[in-house]
Amino acid sequence: MAELTSDVADTICRTVELGVTITGAAVGADDRTHIFCEVLDPDRRCPDCNMAGQPRDRVARVLTDTPAVGHPVLLHVAVPRFVCHTSDCSRSVFRARIDHIARARAVVTTRTERWILQRLTFITDSDILDFACCDLRV
Ligand SMILES: [Zn+2]
Repeated sequence: MAELTSDVADTICRTVELGVTITGAAVGADDRTHIFCEVLDPDRRCPDCNMAGQPRDRVARVLTDTPAVGHPVLLHVAVPRFVCHTSDCSRSVFRARIDHIARARAVVTTRTERWILQRLTFITDSDILDFACCDLRV
């Protein structure tokens, strides 16, 4: 049997839409699916001087992502860090920007924010009335 490629997993989990590729996955004791991934084509430009930095290492950023098959998902993104060697630049180390995945300091992906908002908009006035009527009958 052929081994699954990350292309298949990226398509099924739709991580390809986030610009990352899956490198591993596990189901935790907490009933969460942990997906480990790397940033595809990270931006190497220093945010201060705009020159390309040299790869240094990666740091993990954990984000809640949209559920997969009804189970909560934690996305462990390996975010590349770079060293800026520009002599007159005040920044020495910087992270690749992942604004396309999550806002700065956010704990959920941007698509999870959209998913939550979409679920909230599915609560109609009729649902609220039904809920209120149930409460009145008690
Ligand atoms: Zn720089």
